[in-house]
Amino acid sequence: MRITGNCHCGKIAFEAEGEFGAAMECNCSLCRRKGVLLAFVPRNQFQLATSREDLSSYQFNKHVITHYFCANCGIAPFSEATMPDGKEMAAINLRCVPEIDIAALTVTQYDGASR
Ligand SMILES: [Zn+2]
Repeated sequence: MRITGNCHCGKIAFEAEGEFGAAMECNCSLCRRKGVLLAFVPRNQFQLATSREDLSSYQFNKHVITHYFCANCGIAPFSEATMPDGKEMAAINLRCVPEIDIAALTVTQYDGASR
């Protein structure tokens, strides 16, 4: 399926292609605070529909993931990461995709706090 997501004010918007019936909930120090529900797609199945200049970013720990957020409304719609094998991925916050029924998602817990 093809989805469209955005931050609250709309300065950040994106489209992505993939299966979005499941999400990952991570208990790391950042995810637990943001409350995100993540779905991962190869970076080439993700298109930013707004200007990259409107992305604010945050990195911590090993700095392998760039966590983007909107400096205007504070919402964090997606992150980008390079996997150990070199694959570029996008992690989409499914809470920022209005057409996704959050209650219907199969949520898997990821123990990011222990990594
Ligand atoms: Zn915004």
